[in-house]
Amino acid sequence: MKTIRVNGAEGEGGGQVLRSSLTLSMCSGVPVEVYNIRARRSKPGLLRQHLTCVRAAAAVSDADVSGDELGAKKVLFVPGKVRAGEYRFAIGTAGSTSLVLQTVLPALCLCDAQSVVTLEGGTHNPMAPSLDFLSHAFFPVLRRMGVSIDASLSRYGFYPAGGGRWSVTIRPGKELRALEIIDRGTPLQQQAVALLVNLPAGIGTRELGIIRRRLGWEERQLKLVSASNSPGQGNALSVILAYQHLTEVITVYGKKGLSAEKVASRAVKDTRQYLASSAPVGEYLADQLLVPMALAGGGRFRTSEPSSHTLTNIEVIEKILGVSFQVQSAADGSCLISL
Ligand code: ATP
Repeated sequence: MKTIRVNGAEGEGGGQVLRSSLTLSMCSGVPVEVYNIRARRSKPGLLRQHLTCVRAAAAVSDADVSGDELGAKKVLFVPGKVRAGEYRFAIGTAGSTSLVLQTVLPALCLCDAQSVVTLEGGTHNPMAPSLDFLSHAFFPVLRRMGVSIDASLSRYGFYPAGGGRWSVTIRPGKELRALEIIDRGTPLQQQAVALLVNLPAGIGTRELGIIRRRLGWEERQLKLVSASNSPGQGNALSVILAYQHLTEVITVYGKKGLSAEKVASRAVKDTRQYLASSAPVGEYLADQLLVPMALAGGGRFRTSEPSSHTLTNIEVIEKILGVSFQVQSAADGSCLISL
């Protein structure tokens, strides 16, 4: 089969171009060569997280790979047969385990048997889906598409210590059903969760206090989670907005030098922005739904103004699968993406 060449410098020029290329190669059987990997990032080439993605994709699809080295800017990936099974992928740093899962999950969803994937590294990383985002926002959409999927966490992993560990069980359905999310439906629940890992609970109390005052929420909508099952420290404030047709999760991370008040203020700002718009699918979920939608052979969803991640992912999917998405802007600033 002819190898498809993907320029990793195009559009967003980050790790997602590589991950989507690997995923689609595994699912279609078409070999891919990705060059200029992460050319638009300050440290281009394969970092540990991306290298783990390449190796994970190779393990799951019995692929022949060249260029799977730290710092590599070009990878040739020739997939074999995708096999359901038990896998363990350890990044070795605090790199995002959810992005490693993002690479292999679609292929495992197309198998005819159950898989269990154990991941080690970061579980809560800025600029990547947190475990809460996957559990509340992304997995429920996959379930509606016919995949039974559940995750369980045994250790949290935050930057810089990493050391997180979690497992996900994937039971594919007979086929991947088309995806359709046009509106949010009835509002069901709004909740804020302050997660403190090996940090004083007072940080979370201050964050939740700001959420309560600024958003006018009640005590019963606020939850403090204190945990010590991690080699490091970390703080994540998640706002979970559940609707009949989907759930949006907004996560802001604490870090040294950023006050609890600033963390909460960012969460309030992002929450108000989502509540003020009517588009159901948020910026991050939008780019993550494109691959499952393409593999299901169609569907449509309404989102806010498409991000550069979304537009770049559309280009990569169109190039490898030979499909064509429609992106239609509406007068209210929302956008309908269909296939
Ligand atoms: P790089 O270091 O090259 O930027 P990366 O591998 O970290 O690469 P990106 O190409 O930037 O990745 O892709 C990041 C992914 O994480 C996207 O799918 C994006 O939707 C998702 N993401 C980023 N921030 C969030 C967030 N706050 N909530 C949920 N998902 C997120």
